[in-house]
Parts: sequence; C-alpha cells; structure tokens
Amino acid sequence: MHAAALAAAGLDGWRYLRLPLPPELFAETIRALPAAGFRGVNVTIPHKEAALALAGSASPAARAIGAANTLSFEPGGAIAADNTDAPGLLAALGERWRPAGRSALVLGAGGAARAAVYALREAGAADVAVWNRTPERARALAAALGARAVERPGRADIVVNCTSVGLADPDATFKALPLQADSLDAGSCVVDMVYRDGGTRLLEAARTRGADVVDGLEILVAQGAASFERWTGTTAPREAMRAAVGADAST
Ligand code: NAP
Repeated sequence: MHAAALAAAGLDGWRYLRLPLPPELFAETIRALPAAGFRGVNVTIPHKEAALALAGSASPAARAIGAANTLSFEPGGAIAADNTDAPGLLAALGERWRPAGRSALVLGAGGAARAAVYALREAGAADVAVWNRTPERARALAAALGARAVERPGRADIVVNCTSVGLADPDATFKALPLQADSLDAGSCVVDMVYRDGGTRLLEAARTRGADVVDGLEILVAQGAASFERWTGTTAPREAMRAAVGADAST
C-alpha cells in the first residue's frame, strides 16, 4: 500500500520497508533509524505500547489511547508518537456517519478498541458502550476513556467490531460476538476493523439487513494515509492505496 502511494506521489528514492523486530531489540533499533535516513515507522502488535514509551513527545490521541502506531523522526532525531487508528476510523465513517450525537457500540477492549472509543468520544458520540469477552477489561477501558461497559449490548447507531473475531474462523463470528443479526438494521452503520479477502461475515450480515458498512480495509487505508502525510508532507494518493489493498470505496 505504501509502495503504491510513494510511486503514485512520485516520491522516487523513498522506500517503505518491512522490519520484523523482537521486543528486546525494539528500542535500540528504532533509536538507530533516524541516523540511517528513516523518516518514521508504523508500529504494530506487540510494539505499540513500547513505541509510545520510547517517544520524546506524543499526540493527545496516542497518550490517551496508551499506544502509538506511528513514530515520526524529527530533524535532529527526536521521536514523536501518534496514533492514526483513531482519525482513520473517523475518516472511514465519513460525513454520512459522523458520530456527533449518535450512539455507538464498541466490541473489544484491546488496542483497536481503545483507539475507537477515544475517536468516538472525541467526535461527540452521545453514548459509547463497550462490550468485551473479558468484562473487566471493558470496565477498565470504559473508566479510562469515558465510555460505558455493558454485559449485553443493545442496539446502536454505529457498531464497531474491534475484536479479532472473524479473522481466522469467519463461521465463529456470531457465536463469539453478542450481536443479533436483527440489531444490524437499516438505520445503523457497522464497522469491522478486521479485514480479510472477500470481506467478513459480520459485514455480509449487516449488508443483508440493509445497514451501511465500513470495511476494515478502508480504515487501513485511512490510518496509512495519515502516517504517509505526516512523514512526507504530501497529500496521500488514497485511490492508489485503496487499489493496492483491494478496498472498494463504495462499501
Ligand atoms: P488485541 O489488542 O489483541 O485485542 C483483541 C481483542 O479481541 C480483545 O478484546 C479480545 O478479548 C478479543 N477477542 C479475541 N478473540 C476473541 C474471541 N474468540 N471471542 C471474543 N473476543 C475475542 O488486538 P487489537 O490490536 O485491538 O486488534 C483487534 C483487531 O483489529 C485485529 O484483527 C486487528 O488486525 C484489527 N485492526 C485493524 C486495523 C485497521 O486498520 N483496519 C487497525 C488496528 C487493528 P479479550 O480481552 O477477552 O481477550
């Protein structure tokens, strides 16, 4: 996706590289990157908390979420942390599903859920309910970010699946999640952070019931575009990025 973006933006000489790292080498490797010419890194599991801890400064989103998915290297080598999953969700919801004044339900209590709850609260959602398989994690997240933990979720205008359910075993989706297909009605928008080839069962069911859907690929593109713009100072070529990951903007 980033290689396609760099090519489409004409940024010759830039490269986006995969850099697998064991946790014990994370800090020393990241600290060496600015001098090696890197502008920044995207960080994923299990390094997101370590990335925040390492940075000299952090955006309010990264601080509140407690995790960074983007590090940017300032001239002189200072490291700034950000979390672009939160604006990525809002960008993917678009004008049509602005959270302000709406009810929301977030499923999960990991890093993606923290980013989603933060984004929905910041965007003025009227109510954000959080359900998680392990209820105490939902309670802790809700208390930290101003949401409401629930044991049995009800209907919401915006439903965001932030669990990893549906990734490995699509058939398990409605067994693992406390959702009734009929709570996904035509007046709601269902977001699945999980992305996989051919879409997920959750989005398939939501579409069948007439709900709007947001595919996790759209959020992948939106969070990547935010990182790209931070590092390059160039508008991200979102269509090229969508095409590279096989996202369909019409979903
Ligand atoms: P994480 O921190 O490991 O959290 C995983 C969550 O899934 C936890 O709430 C966990 O519940 C729940 N879970 C796992 N297996 C479950 C099951 N069988 N039944 C019910 N709940 C289950 O992961 P994360 O970083 O938040 O990521 C979650 C998902 O979002 C991943 O699939 C990831 O790829 C995706 N994601 C997508 C984007 C994007 O750009 N589209 C961005 C970030 C993440 P417990 O607390 O009970 O274990």
